[in-house]
Amino acid sequence: MASPVAASGRPQYRMLIDGAWVEAAGGATFESENPYLGSAWAEIPRAGSEDVERAVSAAHKAFKSPAWAGLTPSARGLLLCRLAERIAEEAERLAEIETRDNGKLITEMRAQLRYIPQWFHYFGGLADKVEGRVIPIDKPGMINFTREEPLGVVVAITPWNSPLMLATWKLAPALAAGNTIVWKPSEYSSVSALEFGKLFEEVGFPPGVVNIVTGFGSEIGEALVTHPRVAKVAFTGGDVTGQRVYESAARHIKPVTLELGGKSANIVFSDAELDNAVRGVVSGIFAATGQTCIAGSRALVQRSIHDEFVEKLVALGRTARMGDPLLDTTQVGPITTRPQFAKVLDYVEVAKTEGATCVLGGGKAERPECGNGWFVEPTVFTNVTPSMRIAQEEVFGPVLSIIPFDDEDEAVAIANNTQYGLAAGVWTQSIRTAFELSEKLEAGTVWVNTYRATSYLSPFGGYKRSGIGRESGLTAIREYLQEKSVWIDTIGQVANPFVQR
Ligand code: NDP
Repeated sequence: MASPVAASGRPQYRMLIDGAWVEAAGGATFESENPYLGSAWAEIPRAGSEDVERAVSAAHKAFKSPAWAGLTPSARGLLLCRLAERIAEEAERLAEIETRDNGKLITEMRAQLRYIPQWFHYFGGLADKVEGRVIPIDKPGMINFTREEPLGVVVAITPWNSPLMLATWKLAPALAAGNTIVWKPSEYSSVSALEFGKLFEEVGFPPGVVNIVTGFGSEIGEALVTHPRVAKVAFTGGDVTGQRVYESAARHIKPVTLELGGKSANIVFSDAELDNAVRGVVSGIFAATGQTCIAGSRALVQRSIHDEFVEKLVALGRTARMGDPLLDTTQVGPITTRPQFAKVLDYVEVAKTEGATCVLGGGKAERPECGNGWFVEPTVFTNVTPSMRIAQEEVFGPVLSIIPFDDEDEAVAIANNTQYGLAAGVWTQSIRTAFELSEKLEAGTVWVNTYRATSYLSPFGGYKRSGIGRESGLTAIREYLQEKSVWIDTIGQVANPFVQR
């Protein structure tokens, strides 16, 4: 809960542990910055290992408590549906907080906040439809059935780019399955998480079922992941951090879900409806300022339409309105964090040094409407070859590489020639090409003649280095359950004890 003001005059937030709003045990805080203004706007508790211990103990106690474990799945589902209603009521306010905290467009955050309730309705509805099986076992006099049981304490670690949406993808199925949560939001987007936390309380989740610890991943990440009472880690973030989380979890034999980065290809064939394809490629890379895991950061364009496509793309990219992300008319906002701003500008220089040709943007935006914010001009490179760093590494900013290809086989080979496999787009009017590529592309999601569509109904996740496990859709709840096999002898006679039955 926000206490009125800190000594600095900024709102001072507290974290949620065991149903209480608390400061970090050590009393430390850090500042959250507004990327558009380039200045601090809130103070956040900086958790340490003692806070991790408190939060995990609270979640563990809640997992065993009658107040949570004793709820029927239907009652649990109802709580999630009530939460969905409260989020819908608070959508506008939460969207505005997210925009102040991470600089993403209010239009995008508003759309996300209005959509988030669907995940809680969907998984709330699913809570009492998780059924075990009776297995027609091959041993006379035996009944064998399965139970689907929650895992226990789930640690959710989330990034800054779509903070509440990506947390929802974990929290909704994990809670529907009966687990309890310790959630660590990104240090760059803690305010919306803490405001979101109040809603769990309001609709009646028992204390300790959802705990939120804020702070730095480098300080508390390892303690959260390796805590002996944590049963599972659900992580979204960069692949390097994800690898670290996976290695730590592996040492303790813990299951993980990893939603990591991407270098997705948006493939434009010569038979595509060109204006649509241009809009689709622009939406894949400049929407959200390129700060999405599914950014279509490589446009693969059939050579026969390459020049015409580039001309149209640059013309549309040039019209992008930059500026205050809180304005409905802004189309490209700032980069969320100072380090990310520096990283994107570095990659622009890398591409130039590697010999790519910059045909749009190519540096910091100096427009008056960008003020002191961390803005990078929408940037397009041509003459990119598949092995260049700009074509292989995730930039996470508004920087597009265009690579020409001659035929379908070459397009598939270039598209699959990265360590990532999160998503891909295909622009064609040929149904045969659409089917063929949806099979051959190594990606967890393939869009044909559209881009960036996601839903609570459809599974989302990565191939290769883009991740492990799936979020959303029917199967996502299984990521938070374990299957138990129960055997009951109905004969009542223990046979030869020295021979396996
Ligand atoms: P990071 O990997 O830097 O951070 C993600 C989260 O991990 C943050 O909460 C961070 O905390 C925490 N963290 C940092 N170090 C550790 C550690 N040692 N142990 C445990 N947790 C740690 O990613 P970003 O926040 O920069 O987000 C951008 C990345 O997220 C991009 O690579 C993007 O592709 C990916 N992403 C993937 C999505 C998907 O669904 N596949 C969706 C959205 C983004 P802190 O903030 O304090 O550093």
